Amino acid sequence: MSSILSDDSLASGRSSQIARDHARPPREGEPTHKGKNLMFYCKYCPDFGAQNTSTFKNHLQSKHQIITKTS
Ligand SMILES: [Zn+2]
Repeated sequence: MSSILSDDSLASGRSSQIARDHARPPREGEPTHKGKNLMFYCKYCPDFGAQNTSTFKNHLQSKHQIITKTS
């Protein structure tokens, strides 16, 4: 089973806006995906990575008081 989902184009969906604003690209050695989930790395923290936007949004809110708007 080697189906690779090409859902990593940052042009799709609202989560990409959050990624553009608050996430950083993976460093060398850091995975871009965990399974088939795109990883989001917090650009304010040295090593925080979340597997989905809800986790990432919770992190932004609780650690950085950043409220992300998804309407
Ligand atoms: Zn952070």
